[in-house]
Amino acid sequence: MSQYLFDPPAVVTVPVEGQTEVFPVRRILCVGRNYAAHRREMGGDDRDPPFFFAKPADAIVGPGGDVAYPPKTANLHHEIELVVALKAGGRDIPVDKALDLVFGYAVGVDMTRRDLQNAAKDKGQPWDAAKGFDASAPISAIRPLAGPAPQGRITLSVNGETKQDATVADMIWAVDEIVAEASKLWTLVPGDLIYTGTPEGVGPLVRGDMVAGEVEGVGTLAFKVI
Ligand code: MN
Repeated sequence: MSQYLFDPPAVVTVPVEGQTEVFPVRRILCVGRNYAAHRREMGGDDRDPPFFFAKPADAIVGPGGDVAYPPKTANLHHEIELVVALKAGGRDIPVDKALDLVFGYAVGVDMTRRDLQNAAKDKGQPWDAAKGFDASAPISAIRPLAGPAPQGRITLSVNGETKQDATVADMIWAVDEIVAEASKLWTLVPGDLIYTGTPEGVGPLVRGDMVAGEVEGVGTLAFKVI
């Protein structure tokens, strides 16, 4: 049997409400431009369909953790998002079977180096440095939920001032459609997390900011930018 050259990284986990077992994260997929008003505020065309990008699993910052302001940016943005946690996988999942894969939901923030993202867009370069950096995926505990996906209010405040306030039901791709679309591109597996896109009202954060987010029926998240 082969020996590792060095210790492999620990499995990234997210706590689960109401139970001691934790959710092992396999990877993080993210949906871009999934709310029409946010697509407009980013200068997108109303006909552009949503799309996917990814973050590494170790971008997760669990509940109670501070978020370190990342290097090489002067315009770090918050994006509040509903997060889908998968307990099962597969590929080419039909929309009407997609919610069977869902273990539950969490509240997440897709932290974004907006200046690097805009530069990448201008040059046709990839988004990894803009989206997939260290501590770029704060998340709440996961709430196990079967049945219909959450549809309610999604909000984010900075230092007590509301910045994002929208409705999950306004997503262009609903949760079942997101899972089905993702399964056409990747073989999904248990442990996959999907950040489902942010509504309008994104904006900058600075060191010392207190960020609080909520998705109705799912939970809350709070962290400090340090
Ligand atoms: Mn996002």
